[in-house]
Amino acid sequence: MSKMNFNLTTTLREPTELVARGLAAVADLPDLEKVAARYAVAVTPDMAALIDPDDPDDPIARQFIPSVQELVREPSEDPDPIGDHAHSPVAGIVHRYPDRVLFKLVHVCAVYCRFCFRREMVGPGKGTALSQGAYDNALAYIRAHSEIWEVILTGGDPLMLSPRRLAEIMADIATIDHVRIIRIHTRVPVADPARISAEMIAALKVGGATTWVALHANHARELTDRARAACAGIIDAGIPMVSQSVLLRGVNDNAAALEALMRALVECRIKPYYLHHGDLAPGTSHLRTTLEQGQELMRVLRGRVSGLCQPDYVLDIPGGHGKAPVGPNYLAPRNSFSRERGQFEETRYRVADYCGDVHLYPPQP
Ligand code: SF4
Repeated sequence: MSKMNFNLTTTLREPTELVARGLAAVADLPDLEKVAARYAVAVTPDMAALIDPDDPDDPIARQFIPSVQELVREPSEDPDPIGDHAHSPVAGIVHRYPDRVLFKLVHVCAVYCRFCFRREMVGPGKGTALSQGAYDNALAYIRAHSEIWEVILTGGDPLMLSPRRLAEIMADIATIDHVRIIRIHTRVPVADPARISAEMIAALKVGGATTWVALHANHARELTDRARAACAGIIDAGIPMVSQSVLLRGVNDNAAALEALMRALVECRIKPYYLHHGDLAPGTSHLRTTLEQGQELMRVLRGRVSGLCQPDYVLDIPGGHGKAPVGPNYLAPRNSFSRERGQFEETRYRVADYCGDVHLYPPQP
């Protein structure tokens, strides 16, 4: 762990600050300024303290310290990689699946992740918090659609709101009878755990709806003592937590790192929910794995940890078509066609165990 960053009290936002702290090379400064002009930069003291500046492959640095590779844009990359715009009926709302909506309240985050799928939309200058009029319209949309059972607060990071404002928003949503679940997606408990105050935890609870918190964490080291205490405060208040992680090259694309992350989450009483395949966000190809690598990692993970530690490996289909599970398939079709006999012969399934050995189901009598 870096001693250089121990005493940091403010969030680093400028490439010059990163260079001064030994977190970026001075030779890269002109290119990093170009990156920072395009995509927001923020490294909180908690995250900076985790970075070893002497390790060029530090998995925390890869997530938050801008890279000159972000200036490379691949043809398949898209400013709106998961197609939010195509499903936004009113400002602030994304209605992709019938029973739930995303409610995007703010455009700012505690940290700016270099792989962010909304990197063209988050950060200072990329937008503002919803105006009162837009907020009222968004609420009216939710109220008018009785099929909406779950409202997912996302952004930006909704826990960047003040506890007072968050409590007001929670109460507004909870007054809508058909909304039963409010899910909050956040990176704040790891990135800036001091924000998880007693007031913030109180704001998460609301009569009339059940709150879930989905924590975004990608490496076991992010679950510091302070982060664990913040999550424990939320869970002890009766709010269940799940996690979502992104599969990232050089961060968690090996079985040991994934295993450590999933075990750490479960130890914190956080159920691993999603492992996202990296989205086609601009300038992020250096952080993406292949789908085959992701499937192989999931196969290995299944051999190492219990079901409690297994997230769903999912791909957000570009164009706004939603998530598809893309984990390895353990079940093979049961029919094989015999050309000789002109008929399907095998009436049993073939199923692979966690070692890769194949078995018939039902077994031989
Ligand atoms: S916290 Fe979430 S929305 Fe904010 S930069 Fe990271 S991935 Fe993007």
